[in-house]
Amino acid sequence: MEKMVLASNNAGKVKELKQLLADLPYQIAPQSDFNIDDAEETGLTFVENAILKARHAATLTGLPSIADDSGLEVDALNGAPGIYSARYAGTPSDSEANIDKLLIDLQDVPDAKRTARFQCVIVFLRHALDPTPLICQGTWEGQILHARRGSGGFGYDPVFYLPAQDCASAELSPDEKNTLSHRGQALQQLRSSLLI
Ligand code: IMP
Repeated sequence: MEKMVLASNNAGKVKELKQLLADLPYQIAPQSDFNIDDAEETGLTFVENAILKARHAATLTGLPSIADDSGLEVDALNGAPGIYSARYAGTPSDSEANIDKLLIDLQDVPDAKRTARFQCVIVFLRHALDPTPLICQGTWEGQILHARRGSGGFGYDPVFYLPAQDCASAELSPDEKNTLSHRGQALQQLRSSLLI
């Protein structure tokens, strides 16, 4: 089986991504197996940052690589926190502090204007110098709650409300989240492309 490296040190993401790619004919190793530090995310788009992460892992391992870059876009904040979602409340990245800041920033925003979406870009590089990365994208629409609900998922899941399911994404089971989520959608595209 061909080996590939998953360019993320985020345990929550590694778990979700491995689960979604489990039946592909690839042996997937997280970059923590190779003691690789995080790539510098100096891009201004999810696409640029995903490529930077994938190239960093492919360069240091000599393996094909997959990386994702994702984040939350809030309409009332003109798309923030966007590519800065992980460190919205500052460094080091702290999910609870990020949620607290988001709720404060939106405290005067009425329900109808609390629309938001998770975006995910997943990139597959055949090798570090691959000039045509495979780029897949998923979008998950929702609204920002006024207070946390649920204990599943990670990041902003406790305040991301899904009108169709009438719950927060932190109240979904891992399987339900994978079926609906931005990352799940992007990975389905990747799966289809890799299986061809
Ligand atoms: P990345 O690791 O640079 O892609 O940063 C992504 C950040 O966006 C995470 O640290 C979370 O704050 C947020 N995020 C992305 N996907 C999700 C999700 O599925 N649930 C909750 N938060 C997410």
